[in-house]
Amino acid sequence: MARRPRLAGGCLADRGPAERGPTERGPGGHNSNRVGRLEQVVNKLDLTGIGMTSQRTRMRLVDRLREQGIADEDLLDIVSSTPRHIFVDEALSHRAYEDTALPIGFNQTISQPYVSAHMCAALMQGGPLVKVLEIGTGSGYQTSLLAQLAEQVFTLERIRGLQQKARERLNLLGLRNIQFRHSDGGTGWPQQAPYDGIIVSASPRKVPMELVDQLATHGRMIIPIGDEEEQELQLITLTPEGTKVRVLERVRFVPMLGGKVQ
Ligand code: SAH
Repeated sequence: MARRPRLAGGCLADRGPAERGPTERGPGGHNSNRVGRLEQVVNKLDLTGIGMTSQRTRMRLVDRLREQGIADEDLLDIVSSTPRHIFVDEALSHRAYEDTALPIGFNQTISQPYVSAHMCAALMQGGPLVKVLEIGTGSGYQTSLLAQLAEQVFTLERIRGLQQKARERLNLLGLRNIQFRHSDGGTGWPQQAPYDGIIVSASPRKVPMELVDQLATHGRMIIPIGDEEEQELQLITLTPEGTKVRVLERVRFVPMLGGKVQ
């Protein structure tokens, strides 16, 4: 029997590296004036007491992402200056710079850093990121990367408790270009459309057409499609001729669920 490729841990399980190709560098367009800004905020925050706040610890994670094919230096700079340990519970903060998914409460998990970075890198290819929509704020870590790459981020989360915590963390980091909404993200945020990028952190069984309709022409959506066991991470681009789909890798995310949780 053929061995199944191991899955990259989206926001459910961390199963180690899956089959994946190198991530090419895209034609810029990211929010370059923010690169490095967080470093100053983090230094000022005095996040003391734990060695993982050190730049060296964060650089080890960056080296690992580079080894796995993340090549965009601006994105790697952003990962290196973003304190992932504030996005997980204190009891797990010593594991925050491992390339692994971790629980964040409410039966959800923060995505594996490789998956977060790969999703960002995929969105960055193919044009500037001015407006980005994120479905599934979760811990807010992915949101923090997006807020440093795009001009404006709109993020939706169905679990209020997670959304509140994420909002506090992102405020602490001084990231002010984020708008939050407590809602079922399956129908997106049409009032703010169109988006240059849509990033979906929970997996539906099929592509929600409402979300495709909210893409700008040449906009990209990155989304895990499949059942609860395993999904394929798809990069969907809206071109003037219609949608183009590229399958990036096999992943495992939590399912996209309907309705809101208070
Ligand atoms: N990128 C996040 C991943 C969080 S896990 C991080 O790194 O922390 C996925 C999140 O999607 C969970 O918080 C879950 O509550 C949320 N989610 C699932 N279905 C949703 C829906 N229909 N609308 C909004 N959020 C949803």
